[in-house]
Amino acid sequence: MAQPDNTQPDKTHHDTTDHTETDLENRLTPLQYRVTQKAGTEPAFTGEYWDTKAAGTYHCVVCDTPLFDSATKYDSGTGWPSFFEPVAPEAVDTKRDFKLLMPRTEAVCSTCGAHLGHVFPDGPQPTGDRYCMNSASLRLAPAQPGSDAADHDAAESNAAKSDAAESDAAESDAAGSNAAGTG
Ligand SMILES: [Zn+2]
Repeated sequence: MAQPDNTQPDKTHHDTTDHTETDLENRLTPLQYRVTQKAGTEPAFTGEYWDTKAAGTYHCVVCDTPLFDSATKYDSGTGWPSFFEPVAPEAVDTKRDFKLLMPRTEAVCSTCGAHLGHVFPDGPQPTGDRYCMNSASLRLAPAQPGSDAADHDAAESNAAKSDAAESDAAESDAAGSNAAGTG
C-alpha cells in the first residue's frame, strides 16, 4: 500500500533551520546565542550566576528544561556556576571535546543540544564531578517561597550578608532561622 499521502504539507513551506536560528537570535542575548549555539564560553566572574546562592532550579535558557538544582551548586572558585550533578542524569548529555590540547567533556542540554559548559573530574563528593557551566546557558527559576530549599538558602545568604555588611537585621534573621532549623 504505497498511496501518496495528500495530508502532507506542501514542501515549499518548509523553512526549518533558518527560521529556528533567526528565532533564537532574536530571543537570546548575543552572548546566550554564542554560548549555547556556537559552544562559546563567557568570561569568568562576569556571568549572571557564578556567585548566585539563591535557591531554585537552573533551566536551559533555550528550551527551559530543568538542568540543575541550586542544592548541587557550590563555589568552585572558577568564576563560573559549578554543580556536582545535574537535576537528573538524562537532563545533560556529555561528549568529548578536542578543541584544546587536553580533551575535555562537553556538557549539552540533552533536550535541545544547547552547549552548557564542560564537566571535569575534580568536583566535590558525592559525585566528584564539576559541571562548569556558563551563566549564559542557564535561567534560574527561583524556588517557591516557603519551600524547604528556599528557607534553607535564605538563612545561608543572610548569614553571608551579615558577615560582609554587619547588618543587624540580617544577623538576627539568620540567627532565628538557624535556631529554628537546628533546634
Ligand atoms: Zn535545552
